Amino acid sequence: DQKRVYNFAAGPSTLPLEVLKTAQEQMLNYKGSGMSVMEMSHRSSTYQEIFDETKATLKRLLKIPDNYKILLLHGGATQQFSAIALNLMQTGKADYIVTGSFSGKAAKEAAKFGDVHIAYDGKANNYTHIPTQDELDIREGVDYVHLCENNTIYGTEWNYVPDTKGAPLVADMSSDILSRPIDVSQYGVIYAGAQKNMGIAGLGVVIIREDLIKPHKANIPVLAEYDTMAAKDSMYNTPPAYAIYMAGLVAKWVEDQGGLEEMARRNEKKAKLLQDYLDQSDFYNYPTEVGSRSRMNVAFTTPSKELDAKFVKESIAAGMTNLKGHRLVGGIRASIYNAMTYEGVEYLVNFMKKFEEENK
Ligand code: PMP
Repeated sequence: DQKRVYNFAAGPSTLPLEVLKTAQEQMLNYKGSGMSVMEMSHRSSTYQEIFDETKATLKRLLKIPDNYKILLLHGGATQQFSAIALNLMQTGKADYIVTGSFSGKAAKEAAKFGDVHIAYDGKANNYTHIPTQDELDIREGVDYVHLCENNTIYGTEWNYVPDTKGAPLVADMSSDILSRPIDVSQYGVIYAGAQKNMGIAGLGVVIIREDLIKPHKANIPVLAEYDTMAAKDSMYNTPPAYAIYMAGLVAKWVEDQGGLEEMARRNEKKAKLLQDYLDQSDFYNYPTEVGSRSRMNVAFTTPSKELDAKFVKESIAAGMTNLKGHRLVGGIRASIYNAMTYEGVEYLVNFMKKFEEENK
C-alpha cells in the first residue's frame, strides 16, 4: 500500500482521510442496503435520507436562515454563471466585481443575457488586491451585484461584505465555503462547486434567498430554472447523487471537528505558518497585498522560472503534489483547504527552507 502524498491541488483537492475511509467502508453495502450509494435509486427512501441529511448538515454548519433554499445541482460553479443571470436579471442589469479569472468568466457569461457593468477590475494590479468599498463603482437599482469571495488562482480573499446599494449580493464561494463562519443573511445567493472544500466534482451548491426565486422566463433551459429546481427539491432529474453523498460526509466531518469556528482557527494557523515564512524570506516572492490574502490558496514564486520548475520537480520527489502555479500566473501555488493538515503545511515549509538554503 503506497503512502498518500501531501496534495496541494486547487480542486479537485485532498479530502479528509476519515471521509475517504467512511466512503470506503460504505462502498459495497451502504448501511445494510445491499448496494453502494452509486447504485441506488435517487427516489429510494435510503437515498432520500442521505440527501436530506446533507442539506440539514450544511444548514446547521452555515446557520442558513429558514428563508433560504439549498439547491444541489449539476454543473459545478460554472453552470451557475449563466443560471444566476437567467434567473436574477429581472430588469436586465447586474454589476460584477472582477477580482480574478472566475469572476471575469462569470461576468462574461452574464453579459450574454443582459447589461453587465464591471464595478471594479483588478487587472491593473494583476489581481493581487481586493477592492475597498471606495474603489467600487456600483450602479443604483441593479438586479444584483456579483463577487467571487476567494480567488483560487491569484490567492486573494474578501474580508468584508461590501455595500451594494440595496441590491442582492451574489457570491461565488467555490474555494472558501465551509472554511469560516459567514453571515448568510448578508447574501442573496451563495454558490460553490463542491470539489474543493465540500467534496468531489459534479455538484454545485446554491444557497438562495426565497424571494429571489421568481417564476422562470419562458425560454431558459429547465435545469437552470431555480423555481423548478426549488419546487422539485433539486430532483427534477437525477441529481449528482454520489457527489451529494460525499458532500454530506465532508459536512459531517466538519461538524465533528468542531464546525466552522474550528475550521477558521485551523485555517488561520496554517496560512500564518506559510505566509509568515514567505514574508521573512528574501528568496521567495509573495506579491499578494496584505489584507487581501487568501487563507486557502497561497501563490508565490522563487527568484526565477528555472527555480520554480526545479521547486516543483523536487517537491514531487519529496512526496508533495500539485504545487505548480496556475498557467495564468506561473510560479508556485499551495492550496490549503480544510482537509490539508497543519502537518502538511509544516512539511511544505520545511521543504521550502531547505530549497532556499540550497539554491540561494
Ligand atoms: N469559481 C471559483 C472561485 C473556482 O475556483 C472555480 C474552479 N476552480 C470555479 C468557479 C469553476 O468551478 P467549476 O469547475 O465547478 O465549474
